[in-house]
Amino acid sequence: MSWIPTYHERNLNHLKDLGPNTKVKANQWYQWCIDNKVDVLIYETIRTVATQKTNVDQGISQTMKSYHLVGQALDFVPIVNGKADWNGYKKHPFLTAIEQAEQLGFESGHRWGWDSPHLQYNYKGYGTDKTLDAIQAKINVVSTPKNYLEKDDSGTSVKELQVLLRSAGYNIMADGDFGPATEAAVKSYQKANGLTVDGIAGTKTLTKLKSEESKKGEAELNADYKKDAAPSPRFAEAQKWVKENGISDGTYPQRPVTREEVWSMLYRMSKAK
Ligand SMILES: [Zn+2]
Repeated sequence: MSWIPTYHERNLNHLKDLGPNTKVKANQWYQWCIDNKVDVLIYETIRTVATQKTNVDQGISQTMKSYHLVGQALDFVPIVNGKADWNGYKKHPFLTAIEQAEQLGFESGHRWGWDSPHLQYNYKGYGTDKTLDAIQAKINVVSTPKNYLEKDDSGTSVKELQVLLRSAGYNIMADGDFGPATEAAVKSYQKANGLTVDGIAGTKTLTKLKSEESKKGEAELNADYKKDAAPSPRFAEAQKWVKENGISDGTYPQRPVTREEVWSMLYRMSKAK
């Protein structure tokens, strides 16, 4: 049997939500990861307008024109020894995986300098990936797993659930068997989060667990971009100046700037004396 990524079922579940042509490319990329034993978690693909709005408000996303809204983007995190490594993008083999995605036509947020998890497939432009290209029609995706987990289930998806519950603070074993302890943890999580308390990890429970986990990771990553942020020596003085004069907080030295941000900085400069 071939090697299987730690979060295989979750990855498949997310991949299936992509636009048809993006899905073909994303599946090819994922297959490359499997063939090369590059462990990744694809933790988000399609996103609702409401979620995107929250992300923009929280500074996690920069734009309402997200390729996630139209099924043309995925976010992944390197997995090292079964755990997310939010600093792993610069290292091989994950950088190689990003290069591989680029060869398949993806644009990588890692190259933008501030959205490393992000891979987007522009296809014929924003929101164009709706029907499958005839040429792309034959593809390889593995079967869709069932979308809920209950007592006496076992396997990798149960293990993933247990890992999520552990990261939500439940001290259970991640052994891949959905026993009484796992059921109790699911019920307790559901109760704490205003979900139906049935001990079955269905779409709502799973989505909630996953989104909390990735939010945590992205927040860490975001904090990292900020603190990583010593500018090149010849810009240090300018950085100090913009901070002291309230023109910019001096974070994200390598990140591209939007026109809106330029306007704000000029505006704040005109107010500074
Ligand atoms: Zn993204």
